[in-house]
Amino acid sequence: MVTRVKAPETRDQAIIRLAAQARERGVQIFNYDPTREYFATSISEPGTLHRVTALSCDCLGFLRFGRCTHHSALLDHIGELPVIVPDPEPNAATVAPLTTSGGYPIPAPAALAAVLQARAEVARRSKQARSTADFWRLQAARVRLDQLTSGSVITVAA
Ligand SMILES: [Zn+2]
Repeated sequence: MVTRVKAPETRDQAIIRLAAQARERGVQIFNYDPTREYFATSISEPGTLHRVTALSCDCLGFLRFGRCTHHSALLDHIGELPVIVPDPEPNAATVAPLTTSGGYPIPAPAALAAVLQARAEVARRSKQARSTADFWRLQAARVRLDQLTSGSVITVAA
């Protein structure tokens, strides 16, 4: 049996959910301008107001959970609801694209072809290396080219 485990709700997600709930239930926000205070109507106790700020509410729900419909309704009212940024695509490439010396991206197939061509050339020259210094320079080039292709799914025949 496959059990899907739902990721726990984040604080931001809860605030957005509570703000929607507050709208549904008709929680109203009142502003007392002289003191710049905000008050929210109580749905469970009609006729009661809760003193609410962008950081707190005096209701029992906020005391217990650190969030409530009043607080979320205020954030909604003043345009301070959190913005949830979706996770990046799980399959999105995480390897930075190759760029020219000017910083322009090289299309992946062209870049890969160039790297593979360079590897073949390095391999050919390695067999003809005339000195130890030559050999080490070619080894260094080979390591660098290997780094460029690491993470790529293409394998190169030796
Ligand atoms: Zn509250």
